[in-house]
Amino acid sequence: MVNQKPLVTSLYDLTPQEMESFFLSIGEKRYRAKQVLDFLYHHPVGKIDEMTTLPGSLRKRLSETVRLIPLDLRTTVESSDGTIKHAYEVQDKARNKALLESVWMPADKTDVSGLKDGKNLKSGSDKAKRFTLCISSQLGCAAGCSFCATGALGLKGQLTTGEIVYQVVHSLALYERLPDTVLFMGMGEPMHNFEAVSAAIEILTHPDGLGLSQRRIVISTSGELERLGATHRKFPKIRLAISLNAATDALRSKIMPVNKKFNLKAIAAFISSLDANRRDKVTLEYVVLAGVNDSPDHVKKLSGYLKPITRNVKVNLIPYNPVKGSKYKTPPHKTVLSIQQKLIEIGVSTFIRKNRGREAMAACGQLGGK
Ligand code: SF4
Repeated sequence: MVNQKPLVTSLYDLTPQEMESFFLSIGEKRYRAKQVLDFLYHHPVGKIDEMTTLPGSLRKRLSETVRLIPLDLRTTVESSDGTIKHAYEVQDKARNKALLESVWMPADKTDVSGLKDGKNLKSGSDKAKRFTLCISSQLGCAAGCSFCATGALGLKGQLTTGEIVYQVVHSLALYERLPDTVLFMGMGEPMHNFEAVSAAIEILTHPDGLGLSQRRIVISTSGELERLGATHRKFPKIRLAISLNAATDALRSKIMPVNKKFNLKAIAAFISSLDANRRDKVTLEYVVLAGVNDSPDHVKKLSGYLKPITRNVKVNLIPYNPVKGSKYKTPPHKTVLSIQQKLIEIGVSTFIRKNRGREAMAACGQLGGK
């Protein structure tokens, strides 16, 4: 008999190894894990009863004790630039206090070939386009970055491994393909939900899971360096992004409380400690806030800060995306261009992030679970 109390919330919560242990623990053969994993990640179905290679009795036992789909899609909002925001609801009442959001974004280059290691590519013209999926790791966030709508919510709860993984798996149903890049930059500080995020990356990259290469995953942190280091040791090819946003500790501490724990010096030391042969540079995100961090003096200090680490980093300038009630303002485009120019002059690869999804409140910093 299967325990009356569910052993797991959703089958998507389990790493391939845990899936094997789960089936062994309920007296089933090891190979049942592979059969179920094949359904979860290669041929997703809506109900356990549709896993037709499993005997009917096992399907019944599983249906009575575990969930399959861990999230309910509530709303979908599309921007004219093709960005699509999905809002999901978790299924247990205790945590159901905010929606979590994911954002599906067309990438700029539309002339590159389709996925190398993905599955279920859509045929036709979409095959040539590239897409990024920005996913959430928490319900709200406790990091308190003052420019961020998610930060204003506070922390409403942690997401489970399955709730994180399912945001990616759901692309197969919604778009008949996987994203080219999975960005942990939606709601939440991924390093504040370290265990669940780590297990989710394992599932996303495992050959019996979604089988994505590690380089297709970007972990973005406000600056939780210890856990970022642990993630990097476990998944050495994963791409890393750190939210910088200021070039002095005084300003960074004011807009990002994490700076009191891991300051600018610690970030530079972390970056310098990474293997110099790493193929991917660390991305430093810089949300440009008009009148706050965009003056010539700020840019001079930023250049000085970046000089010793120019070879290890690239910078993404993100013009502030407005949120109702916020004290911050979007800078003029020419200000952002001039910051880019100054950083390029000292040899830092610097990009300006497009404000994709702004009208659907789907752009960076705007995810507020509404
Ligand atoms: S920017 Fe990221 S870490 Fe900071 S409050 Fe927003 S969601 Fe949290």
